[in-house]
Amino acid sequence: SGRWARAMAILREVEEKCGTPISKLRQVADAMTVEMHAGLASEGGSKLKMLISYVDNLPTGDEKGLFYALDLGGTNFRVLRVQLGGKDKSVVNQEFDEVSIPPHLMTGTSEELFDFIATALAKFVATEGEGFHPAPGRQRELGFTFSFPVRQLSISSGTLIKWTKGFNIEDAVGQDVVGELTKSMEKIGLDMRVAALVNDTIGTLAGGRYHNQDVAAAVILGTGTNAAYVERAHAIPKWHGLLPKSGEMVINMEWGNFRSSHLPLTEYDQALDVESLNPGEQIFEKVISGMYLGEIVRRVLSRMAEEADFFGDTVPPKLQIPFILRTPDMSAMHHDTSPDLRVVGGKLKDILGISNTSLKMRKMIVELCDIVATRGARLSAAGIFGILKKLGRDMVRYGEKQKSVIALDGGLYEHYTKFSTCMESTLKELLGEEIAESIVIEHSNDGSGIGAALLAASHSQYV
Ligand code: ADP
Ligand code: MG
Repeated sequence: SGRWARAMAILREVEEKCGTPISKLRQVADAMTVEMHAGLASEGGSKLKMLISYVDNLPTGDEKGLFYALDLGGTNFRVLRVQLGGKDKSVVNQEFDEVSIPPHLMTGTSEELFDFIATALAKFVATEGEGFHPAPGRQRELGFTFSFPVRQLSISSGTLIKWTKGFNIEDAVGQDVVGELTKSMEKIGLDMRVAALVNDTIGTLAGGRYHNQDVAAAVILGTGTNAAYVERAHAIPKWHGLLPKSGEMVINMEWGNFRSSHLPLTEYDQALDVESLNPGEQIFEKVISGMYLGEIVRRVLSRMAEEADFFGDTVPPKLQIPFILRTPDMSAMHHDTSPDLRVVGGKLKDILGISNTSLKMRKMIVELCDIVATRGARLSAAGIFGILKKLGRDMVRYGEKQKSVIALDGGLYEHYTKFSTCMESTLKELLGEEIAESIVIEHSNDGSGIGAALLAASHSQYV
């Protein structure tokens, strides 16, 4: 019937507009490399901020003592403590706790948010017991993973440039987030020093490096997306400070804000962006990351309902609610292997209130999930390929058999198997068989938390 044909036409158009042939991915990777150079050349020189992290030494494995970490960057925040054993002993003990952030705090005041965090941290510190040994007479130290763009002033201070991922607390922008946290800690008498302020990519890089010295870059695919990597200090023209002894500097790319005319964008992406909390910004993030994939699918389904009566004569009201279809639910539908696509049927009913869906409809919805996830996964691979190009690790160098490890973390990468498999196979496709052998993707499980604690250790006031 005409209904099917119209729905199918919408789906085919989305498929065409989301296409990522390898030639396009190469253009995206090249654009990424160009923007990396521009962002390193001058402040404001590119959509890629290429932020200097002040981390010029990554963990070696010799770090020792009790350290805390706090990870804020999505809907949950985590507190953790690790007892580091020093040379050859690695992590002797670790404990963590996860607290979800009440939504009203994500758009309230800076003081309310940091008071809430400090209070949760104090509660966690109070449970310190067997197996954790604070050094006598010393202040406890904390690595603070704060995964929003920050203009770093030192390893342990930095001002918030802007919020992303659904946070919007105006009075915090421009403030030193360590100062804000410290104020809240002092208010409740929590005696703790923030020794390192990093974001999740840098934490993941540090955590990855602790276990494997070949780690060269870290990528987060979670609620948002970002990447960090180790750059040669003299390849950073905008850095006017002393050259670090190591000769290296970790760069926080803030690649979520990348954009390029080569990105395959659709009218659905445009509408999502316009209606978002941060229009015009984080365009790469909006086609790749977990916060948005389900929402893109919802928008297409909504169009199919409106223009092709895909779900019958009326548009299901719940389908009109932004962000109602979350990426984990999209992922569950995409991975449905039951012959009658029972999971898809169940999700449509439970989340969108749509019952009596036919197998034919369910199949189209799985295909839509595949189109949207595949685009995100292949563009992520192009981004990683861009970093490898910048590092000159996309080619075999004469006489060299160097391995490059990319540490990956984030709920999207971890749980959306079809996404991560596609991302990894696309990276191989871009690299070619021979080079692909020397590039390893490693899941750095909760590197961002441990990594921050490790960086607190290497930047302790007592070393
Ligand atoms: P954050 O990025 O908020 O710090 P995570 O790295 O844990 O936290 O990522 C959480 C995000 O991962 C969620 O917002 C969601 O988009 C995505 N995610 C979690 N579970 C799944 C899943 N099963 N399938 C697909 N995406 C998932
Ligand atoms: Mg995280």
